[in-house]
Amino acid sequence: MAKQADLTGDQREAFQKNEADFAELDKQLQKVRDGARSRLREVGYEPDESQWCLRCACPNFERDHYHPRKCARKSCQHLDTVHF
Ligand SMILES: [Zn+2]
Ligand SMILES: [Zn+2]
Repeated sequence: MAKQADLTGDQREAFQKNEADFAELDKQLQKVRDGARSRLREVGYEPDESQWCLRCACPNFERDHYHPRKCARKSCQHLDTVHF
C-alpha cells in the first residue's frame, strides 16, 4: 500500500472526498437506525434483548464465524449494523 507521503495531490484529494462521503453515510445510517427503532417502539416492539434486528423480528444477533458481520440466523442474515 502506498504511504500517505507517496500520494499525489489528486489521490490525496480523492481520499479526502471519500472520507467526507463515508462520514455522511455514517450519519445517514445512524439517522435511519434511530428512525427504525422509534418506528418499532411506537408500535410496541422493543425486546429486552440487546442486538435485536431492526429489519426483521430476529431477537438477537448471532455471530457467524465465517461472516462475523452477518447474522447467522437463517431468517435474518442482516448485518450487525442493523442489530440494535
Ligand atoms: Zn439477526
Ligand atoms: Zn434481521
